[in-house]
Order: sequence, then C-alpha cells, then structure tokens
Amino acid sequence: MPAQIIDGKAIAETVRNQVAAETQRLIRDTGIVPHLAAVLVGNDPASEVYVRNKERACQKAGLRSTLHRLSTATTQADLLELIAALNHDMSVHGILVQLPLPKHLDSTQILDAILPTKDVDAFHPENTGLMLQGRPRFVPCTPAGVMKMLEVSKVPTAGRHAVVIGRSDIVGKPMAALLVQKGIDATVTICHSRTADIGAVCRTADILIAAVGIPEFVKGDMLKPGAVVIDVGINRVNERLVGDVDFVAACAVASAITPVPGGVGPMTIAMLLLNTLKSARMMHRLS
Ligand code: NAD
Repeated sequence: MPAQIIDGKAIAETVRNQVAAETQRLIRDTGIVPHLAAVLVGNDPASEVYVRNKERACQKAGLRSTLHRLSTATTQADLLELIAALNHDMSVHGILVQLPLPKHLDSTQILDAILPTKDVDAFHPENTGLMLQGRPRFVPCTPAGVMKMLEVSKVPTAGRHAVVIGRSDIVGKPMAALLVQKGIDATVTICHSRTADIGAVCRTADILIAAVGIPEFVKGDMLKPGAVVIDVGINRVNERLVGDVDFVAACAVASAITPVPGGVGPMTIAMLLLNTLKSARMMHRLS
C-alpha cells in the first residue's frame, strides 16, 4: 500500500486558524496586537520569498508584521544597533533575523543579541537550554512543526527508534532533543556527514527525519518497511523544489511521508506565528 501523505499544508492551516482566533480574542480583550519584526539583510532570492511568506502569514492571522530591509553593505555594528532598538521597542514581541546573513556578518553574535524573550525563532542559547531541559519558552519553528505533524498524525513515538539525519543547530540537534523528551520517549540516533554506513542506521528507523540539504539523499532502500518519513529538506533543482528524500521510491516503502512542497515548510511558518502570539501573551503576563 502506498504511504499515507502527511499533509503539512492542511495541518498548518489548522494551526494558523487557531492563532488567528486567539489573536482576535487577545486584541478584543486587551488591545495588544502580537507584532513580529523581521530583519532582512541583502537580497538573497530564497530569503526574499521566505520573508514575504512569513509577512503574509502574519497579516492573514491578524498579527502585525514589520520588515526591516538592510543593504548587503550593512555592518555588524549597524545590525546590532537595529536589534538593540527592536529589543527595547515594547510594541515588538518577536524578532526574526532571516538567515543566511551575508558572509561578512557574524550570525552567532547577531542571534545572541536578540532578547531571549523576543527570540521567536528560538535560536538563542538560553532558549536552547530551556528546551533541552524540557521547560521550553519557545521551540524552534521547524522541529516544533515536525512534532505537531507527528502528534496530529498520531504517530507513536514512545520506545520507537527515531533517526535524525543532520546536526544543525536550527533543525537536527533541536529535533533530536525534542524526540528524546519525557512524554515523547523516542530512542534517538543522530546521523551526520561523518556517520559510517548511514543506510544501515536509517534502515533501523521507525521514524526517519531528513534534514541534510542534499536533494533526494534518502533512497527507498535506506528505509525500514512501514517507517514514517519526515522530509525537512528544501532544495531547488532546475526551478523545482525537491526534498532530501526520494519521494517516489520512499512512498513504496514507508507507511507515511511528508511531501515537498506542502510538508514541513508550511508548518515552520505556522509555528512562528504561534511563538509570536505566545511571546505577546508572556510579555504582558497573560499566560
Ligand atoms: P545544514 O547544512 O546546516 O545541515 C545539514 C546537516 O546535514 C549537517 O549537520 C551535516 O552533518 C549533514 N550532512 C551533510 N552531508 C551529509 C551526508 N552526506 N550524510 C549525512 N549527513 C550529512 O542544513 P539545515 O539548516 O539543517 O537544513 C537542512 C535542510 O532542511 C535544507 O535542505 C534546508 O533547506 C531545509 N530546511 C527546511 C526548513 C523548512 O521549513 N522546511 C527549515 C530549515 C531548513
């Protein structure tokens, strides 16, 4: 039987509708409008698209969104100054710096400068630590989106072997940290570019999460029959978006799979809205 498709677009829409309803209630009861400030440096075409999609999603859900566009020539000091201003602006609840930044800028220093209570991307070390300890303030949007998809799709996780391919600070590491938390209870393996015989490791996965950044890296023969496959990858190949999993081959082996596009991507944006709403509530001590 071909794999069931886990429809990220539909699940994301449910989350966005929930955010929209709660935002409307917040505005009605308190006058507070959750506000996301996005910072875009330079004109990387993919980043332009991501930022535009985030802005549009905010507006549709009733959140305020402002975009700070800076030229490629922006200095580290200029960017730090803008972050400091946004940190101090009481009307701003979430700050997002679109990555990647131009090479001459130090992303770590920039991300560390964001006030942890406005860090809706959850990249600040304080938020990483809280999440790791199982008491998250914000959860990084992409891994949070994956967890939501597993929950809504009723994928059993307790005692299951989850294999995460990729160890980035944005996806792979937090993904593994969430899967191992009490209540989720997966047994987790992280694979990376130096893992020996990655196919053999993947074939033991009940849940396989691919965040590699290599088009169709995961082949059908790397999957255990009946595995649940979550494809985080977004790769542009000849103007077409392709995931990190060979979708057609995987469909014949897996029990469930996320498509690209229409899988994890829309979930990431939905979780960003959720984090911004949460931040607005927390800043005004409403939850
Ligand atoms: P990254 O480049 O920071 O990390 C990739 C990871 O893959 C690294 O940890 C590396 O060790 C591992 N890797 C590289 N080559 C490998 C190999 N041959 N074998 C095994 N592991 C290997 O990328 P990232 O930011 O984690 O993103 C991964 C993918 O997810 C990209 O395609 C990116 O575009 C996509 N992404 C999607 C979303 C979304 O919303 N859907 C969000 C973030 C990233």
